[in-house]
Amino acid sequence: MHRLTLGDFELSIFSDGTYPLDGGAFFGVVPKVMWSRKVKADEKNCVTAGLNSLLIRTGKQTVLVETGMGNKLSERMIKFYGQPAKLLDNLSADGVSPEEVDIVINSHLHFDHCGWNTVRHNNGKIVPTFPRARYFAPKGEWQYARRPSERDAISYLPDNYDPLVESGQITLLKGGEEIIPGISVKTFPGHTAHMQAIIVTSQGRTACYISDLMPTTAHIDLTWGMAFDLYPLQTIESKKLYYQRALPDKWLTVFTHDPNTPWAYVEKDDAGKMVARGA
Ligand SMILES: [Zn+2]
Repeated sequence: MHRLTLGDFELSIFSDGTYPLDGGAFFGVVPKVMWSRKVKADEKNCVTAGLNSLLIRTGKQTVLVETGMGNKLSERMIKFYGQPAKLLDNLSADGVSPEEVDIVINSHLHFDHCGWNTVRHNNGKIVPTFPRARYFAPKGEWQYARRPSERDAISYLPDNYDPLVESGQITLLKGGEEIIPGISVKTFPGHTAHMQAIIVTSQGRTACYISDLMPTTAHIDLTWGMAFDLYPLQTIESKKLYYQRALPDKWLTVFTHDPNTPWAYVEKDDAGKMVARGA
């Protein structure tokens, strides 16, 4: 169990499980001889990716950042990714019921980040998994998701968000908003044009759910980006901007797809290399 105190807030990691991702796609232009020193690939060249959600208990509200892959994948997608669907069980094992969640925030709307936003009811209707929650997601992501490029159209499943837009249960954000005191979003383009990081601050301490800008601790080097990134040069610029604040202010970075290290302090060592120090 990964849990820590950040000022007045309690932060916990809950996983939706792990899934296989092609190692080449995960590390973009980085040669396998380099990435395979950090992460092991199986006989199909796949590496294990995690699905980490962040639960924040502020004392007043319960906030869930990201909702994993969910349980509504098509047969075809299950062939590629499996469908671990463990988030609700993991929350429940710690005594967190869906009714308890007040706020759900999505960094972007790819299927592996907002899958448990909704579930399919027995009668076939898509309903919110967290019935009382107010949901938040980037407006630009939702607009893009309606007409995605051929390249990443497979990643957008309207059942994960359109029913919430229709019911008015989701608020679409332009980026920069404070959702509740101490929890805000900031756009970091690169992976997509409108992906937003979730910044959590209490009593002078800050944690940041940086999402797919740096999905694992193996991606903290400026040039180690994913082939999935739509704007790889912007990924580098966004990482620089992130580090300009995160390094001097000692932010805790939360890694969405790291199966072993869901959060760490990123630091620059004496040789100028980025290193992740355990929390
Ligand atoms: Zn993504």
